[in-house]
Amino acid sequence: MKPLMEVKNLKKYYQISSREGDKKQILKAVDDVSFEIKKGEILGVVGESGCGKSTLGKTVLRLHEKTDGQVLYDGRDLFSLDHKEMTELRKRIQMVFQDPFSSLNPRKKVVSLIEQPLRIHKTGTQAEISEKVEAIMSEVGINPHYKKRFPHQFSGGQRQRIGIARALALNPEFVVCDEAVSALDVSVQAQILNLLLDLREKHDLTYMFIAHDLAVVEYISTRIIVMYLGKIIEVADKHELVKNHTHPYTKALFNAFPLTDPHQRIGKKKIVMGDVPSPVNPPSGCHFHPRCPFAMDICREQYPELKEVAPGHMSACHLHQ
Ligand code: SF4
Ligand code: MG
Repeated sequence: MKPLMEVKNLKKYYQISSREGDKKQILKAVDDVSFEIKKGEILGVVGESGCGKSTLGKTVLRLHEKTDGQVLYDGRDLFSLDHKEMTELRKRIQMVFQDPFSSLNPRKKVVSLIEQPLRIHKTGTQAEISEKVEAIMSEVGINPHYKKRFPHQFSGGQRQRIGIARALALNPEFVVCDEAVSALDVSVQAQILNLLLDLREKHDLTYMFIAHDLAVVEYISTRIIVMYLGKIIEVADKHELVKNHTHPYTKALFNAFPLTDPHQRIGKKKIVMGDVPSPVNPPSGCHFHPRCPFAMDICREQYPELKEVAPGHMSACHLHQ
């Protein structure tokens, strides 16, 4: 089956001013990243903050312009579409944002927040739009009776439900969820994750699910990408990654986050991580080498290519090359 999205050698660089103010420096937020998303998949993207996950999510939706590379959606090069074509495609690709507290305009009633994308894309008469808003509110578990309320009158979990309703109003097929549950209490997180799973089932959705919390990504994803300083360092199906992750950074992540089965961790060498280096001038060779307990001479000199270590399982580490 043809992938729904193909990302080829995608780069997103930013020019930033150094502290001295004169020299410009390059921040490689997304650095030569390639992967595919199949229809119906939930592709998890995990890594510490500052590793480029959100930039990747926004760039594959062309909410940011790319620096280089390609994003093919349903076979079409996203960055070569003109304004009209892109507006048309926007209906099919949507984003759920991290923070329901700041991503919803506090001065707007819930009804107008959810209506907005429907109005922008002129999807029907006012009566049809109102009907759609009520239907989608019920679907995400918010009583349509409350549609004239403002965002602050809802709890965090309810606000994220409103954010999801807004993203789904146009019946998209592909949704990027960027830290969609990170701002919520743990008890509410599971409810929102289950809602996303139900909606995917009902509407045949494909998700790219970005989070720093491995437990959350493990729960929802079917396949997982691990990112470190702008690069993909490991990718595999969820079960394969959980059982057989090989990259020292992935091992460190599994050490740092609670697993579903804590017994799996017993007897394993714990990797102490320290802080993430700056993505401006990242370490030479393998970017993880200053934090890696297995670092060898070659790691300081040469960036390890992403290579297949088992069918469908790729890892970028000199240890297994
Ligand atoms: Fe560690 Fe070297 Fe592998 Fe990088 S390439 S993760 S430094 S062993
Ligand atoms: Mg982020």
